Amino acid sequence: MYRVGEGRVADSGFRVRFWGVRGSIAAPGPATARYGGNTPCIEVRCGPHLLIFDAGTGIRALGEKIRAEEPLDADLFLTHTHYDHISGLPFFGPAYKGCNRFTLWEGHLGAGKPLEDVLRQLMAAPLFPVPLNIIESNLRFRKFAAGDRLEPRPGVTIHTAPLHHPNEATAYRVEYGGKALCLAFDTEPRGAEPDPGVVAIAKGADLLVHDAMFTDAEYATHKGWGHSSWEEAVRVADAAGVGRLVLFHHDPGRADDALDVIGHAALARRKGTIVAAEGMVIGL
Ligand SMILES: [Zn+2]
Ligand SMILES: [Zn+2]
Repeated sequence: MYRVGEGRVADSGFRVRFWGVRGSIAAPGPATARYGGNTPCIEVRCGPHLLIFDAGTGIRALGEKIRAEEPLDADLFLTHTHYDHISGLPFFGPAYKGCNRFTLWEGHLGAGKPLEDVLRQLMAAPLFPVPLNIIESNLRFRKFAAGDRLEPRPGVTIHTAPLHHPNEATAYRVEYGGKALCLAFDTEPRGAEPDPGVVAIAKGADLLVHDAMFTDAEYATHKGWGHSSWEEAVRVADAAGVGRLVLFHHDPGRADDALDVIGHAALARRKGTIVAAEGMVIGL
């Protein structure tokens, strides 16, 4: 895995790139320019395979970049369908081109609620000018139950787990080439101890990207909002024995300078911890 200071990226073909790191709502502007204001979107490369996690506003710029790789056959995994995780989808350019195919996965809605219906509502008049059926033939929908094990592409195994979040959300553990990446956001502790379900799916992962919306002091007055503190992210990473922790899903009101302060405190608490920023690339 790449470590700051080593000056190289391990050439395993397993890479993560952050296109949106902000939670709840996009927060552009001079105070957030360094870490970025787009909502969640993470590009994962497993050799030749392109996996996208969440379709927040960050997916628009990802779409521009991958135009060079058309025709595309990629997977898009949704942690859940809150606005900050899907609102970029109508602006994902490659979805509008007939030569491309995207498989959309979700495991939080339950048997009676097709993802198509949710996206149809998102793109319905008078909320959006282009209806879902314009792009629907380029999309395939795959429903699973959080807890299922998925094999979306040769050599890629994904474990899933339910998270403690309003309307449910899903954690993903991507395994490829003997390495493991775990994504666990939006998630709130279930009690005083780290969530055993999150610890289990993150166990021994090389990289854990975890919800870090609050500080412990802020969390005390935000219970039930469905998010964790950065200190909780450290506790989960320690309990799971992960290689490296990435703090993610930043509060939209958190300015870059305040994220710097959190970054320093987190680094002092756990070696190698970094604060997710748009454009950041990590090799496993
Ligand atoms: Zn969110
Ligand atoms: Zn959410």
